[in-house]
Amino acid sequence: MARTGFVAGNWKMNTNKQGAVALAKAVAQGAPAGVQVGVAVPFVYLDAVGQALAGSSVMLGAQDACWLPNGACTGEISIEMLKDVGAKFVLTGHSERRHIFGDGPEFVAKKAHAVYSSGLTLIHCVGETLEQRDANQTLAVVQKQLEELQPASIADPDRLVIAYEPVWAIGTGRNATNEQAQEVHAYIRQALGKLWNQNFASQVRIQYGGSMKPDNAAGLLAQPDVDGGLIGGAALKAESFLAIVNAAK
Ligand code: PEP
Repeated sequence: MARTGFVAGNWKMNTNKQGAVALAKAVAQGAPAGVQVGVAVPFVYLDAVGQALAGSSVMLGAQDACWLPNGACTGEISIEMLKDVGAKFVLTGHSERRHIFGDGPEFVAKKAHAVYSSGLTLIHCVGETLEQRDANQTLAVVQKQLEELQPASIADPDRLVIAYEPVWAIGTGRNATNEQAQEVHAYIRQALGKLWNQNFASQVRIQYGGSMKPDNAAGLLAQPDVDGGLIGGAALKAESFLAIVNAAK
């Protein structure tokens, strides 16, 4: 099953308005055909970046969203607001949300359900801490995080993307080896097959995230179940981000 590669940049809480627009323009200008490219942008720059990306194939995305439609939710951003400024995808369950800001499995599950139901593409992040890996719990942790999704209400494999991001590899400069990544990606595909069915699972893109850089991207992306990347640090410079994007073609 040939899956179109999907590389998304996660800008986290970085850039300013001018830098965000310049970065978006450079990505739009350099993005090649044959691979899906996205940028997950700080909320306040979504509108400006969306305008900078107008006419390009680069997808605009958000890093989080509230599951409630509107109302008394001080500090939150609804999915309709994200759609209003042109967002096409949303991350859920990023490890920084889970481990720094306390998003528990129930919150993450509600967010994932709300994002998919809204018609946007969902990038659902899963991954184990170093402690969990050392205790041989990697696959069990990933399995539980996949079970935050509701198979009965997710029918379009194009709008579901799983990002496998070992927590110990995020922002540390220590990426998973090609073999470690492939082992977990293959497990994820098998688990999706049980939660949905094999045909559905074979179409879902599974991104690797965690210190993916231009010099390790080709090896990771050559693994049969690695269909792209979710890129943090290296997405903040167009040159390094586009080098990874090109490796995913
Ligand atoms: C991320 O934030 O999702 C990530 C993978 O970061 P980095 O590439 O910096 O490890």
